[in-house]
Amino acid sequence: MVDNLNQSVIVLKGIGEETKEALEEMKIFTVQDLLEYFPYRYEDYSLRDLAEVKHEEKVTIEGKVHSEPSLIYYGKKKSRLTFRLLVDRYLIQVVFFNQPYLKNKIMMNEMVTVSGKWDQHRQTISASELKNGQSSHLTEFEPIYALKGKITMKGIRKFISIAFNQFGHLMRETLPESLMKKYKLLNRRDAVRAMHFPDNGENLKQARRRLVYEEFLTFQLKMQGLRKFEREQSQGKEQNYHLEKLKIFIEQLPFPLTNAQKRVVNEILKDLKSTFRMNRLLQGDVGSGKTVVAAIGLYASFTAGFQGALMVPTEILAEQHMESFLHLLEPFGVKCELLTSSIKGKRRKEILEGVALGEINILIGTHALIQDEVIFHHLGLVITDEQHRFGVEQRRILREKGENPDVLFMTATPIPRTLAITVFGEMDVSIIDEMPAGRKVIETYWAKHTMLDRVLTFMEKELIKGRQAYVICPLIEESEKLDVQNAIDVHSTLTHYFNQRYDVGLMHGRLSNEEKEMVMKAFSKNDVQLLVSTTVVEVGVNVPNATIMLIYDAERFGLSQLHQLRGRVGRGNEQSYCILLADPKSEVSKERMKIMTDTNDGFVLSEKDLELRGPGDFFGRKQSGIPEFKVADMVHDYRALETARNDATAMIQLNQFWTSDEYKYLREELMKSGVFEGEKLD
Ligand code: ADP
Ligand code: MG
Repeated sequence: MVDNLNQSVIVLKGIGEETKEALEEMKIFTVQDLLEYFPYRYEDYSLRDLAEVKHEEKVTIEGKVHSEPSLIYYGKKKSRLTFRLLVDRYLIQVVFFNQPYLKNKIMMNEMVTVSGKWDQHRQTISASELKNGQSSHLTEFEPIYALKGKITMKGIRKFISIAFNQFGHLMRETLPESLMKKYKLLNRRDAVRAMHFPDNGENLKQARRRLVYEEFLTFQLKMQGLRKFEREQSQGKEQNYHLEKLKIFIEQLPFPLTNAQKRVVNEILKDLKSTFRMNRLLQGDVGSGKTVVAAIGLYASFTAGFQGALMVPTEILAEQHMESFLHLLEPFGVKCELLTSSIKGKRRKEILEGVALGEINILIGTHALIQDEVIFHHLGLVITDEQHRFGVEQRRILREKGENPDVLFMTATPIPRTLAITVFGEMDVSIIDEMPAGRKVIETYWAKHTMLDRVLTFMEKELIKGRQAYVICPLIEESEKLDVQNAIDVHSTLTHYFNQRYDVGLMHGRLSNEEKEMVMKAFSKNDVQLLVSTTVVEVGVNVPNATIMLIYDAERFGLSQLHQLRGRVGRGNEQSYCILLADPKSEVSKERMKIMTDTNDGFVLSEKDLELRGPGDFFGRKQSGIPEFKVADMVHDYRALETARNDATAMIQLNQFWTSDEYKYLREELMKSGVFEGEKLD
């Protein structure tokens, strides 16, 4: 007989081959899968006070039948059944369409419970369900499941119910007794049952609370397990940097470091020196001065006799970094080189040789750096800039490059805390939360498209002063579906408008690398005063003379992205401006425009962005690396996430965790993740 939940659903009564296949379409293979196929929402049939119910809202109420039902047939097979219902002291009308058979169930002066849509003006419920008697006999919350193919709502409910009756007793507890007590959690079986068949709202809430915690805890255990493993099992190198040289290097910088920069530099230096391998995320708002921190780290590693690599997402950015690094590091005898996919042939061969021989100390480039052909002589430190553009997989390849180099990931899109501890939960985090002194706040305005003339007049005033401007558009070419301005159109409009007074450049993702580079060079040399561009310029580009940024259709961008774009100006000493051209329709979009004009703090914006857009959209769809949870919601349940993280961190240090039966299940889950594969743990 079946004695575990990992059996095919075919063992359930009433499920045959056909149903089994249909369920498999929904990724439900085993009894356990079925039991854990949770509803994605609930129809709320709990009783409400009619005075609180809004027009058109769905509602369930009970009352006494106050008139004989009247049934009218019309059209073909159509019918309308009406009666009056006394609810508390209100007398309302109830209507059922096309359910004539209900007539026999409606008896004068009997209690009934009906559910349907409330029409406040007509004081009528357009009902879909009727139950005799009082509501305590009803399920208040009806689970709604995602469906596919042949499986119906009624069907899935039935199958789950059968699974429970037949096998519910086999469900094991997964959490240790101590935690269950500490947080007063429902046991697993009761929680799973309540998800499908809640007794009431409170019961459902407790069920969710328990399962959310379990899900986060299991997840965080894997993250913390990975972190522990990477720190302790993988041999990093002790990088004994030359403190005196480093001090001199920092002193000769054109500016003193901010306190935040100093703190972060110390965190990095400590990691370099330790035998653990650094796996650190460095967050700092646009313009907070991450580049110089990277340079200090790489220089430190250099003085310890190691090579370094700096990896960025675009060639333009690589070149820019190359320029600042030459400037900063070459005087200290550090040999820097650039490697991108457009460097080919003999030159490429020379560079690769130089890297392999250790003659080149720091290699800067795009993802070309993590290709197999690049072999370092003695790689000590790898830094990636704007790392969220590198996927999880690339992060791993990078960590495996060379013999366990220390790795620092830098990002200018501040990541909301809740995402940071999920997506980057296995990493240590450093934060630069302070801007260099004297930085002027970028003034941000929101204008409607009808105000474009005034905006352009304003822009020209800046151009007359000798400044430059970015103009950002969401798309390259006109799209039939989207009524948005596009770079090519805007470019020709503005060329016409500024008619020889100023030169207008055009930049977008369809240009070849050489073309992009030419445009960018022309802009940074001020041969071109206005640059019309798609979001290609979003990342890292540095032209301090640009003081004005105009963003078309700004409502189409996320807050973090707008903030990134805005960060392209305000890089020099002059006051800078950002103008959002937008006619937002929804309240949320209006809210976003307002938030942009209100705050310059990337961390605040990122939290808001996550709130407004949800985790899936935060990083963009593709390489998000955001785990999928069955019950938990990272944004909504962030408190539970933090608790789970703390618990996981502590738990993994406990001796009992590795030995006691209480932790058996969690331990197994951790092992399943493959983190400790082939490793001895003691
Ligand atoms: P980001 O963090 O966006 O990469 P950058 O490293 O490009 O920022 O720095 C932005 C500008 O601020 C650069 O011109 C840099 O030279 C300057 N900067 C960095 N740190 C300081 C500081 N401590 N004081 C003054 N200016 C600084
Ligand atoms: Mg930068």
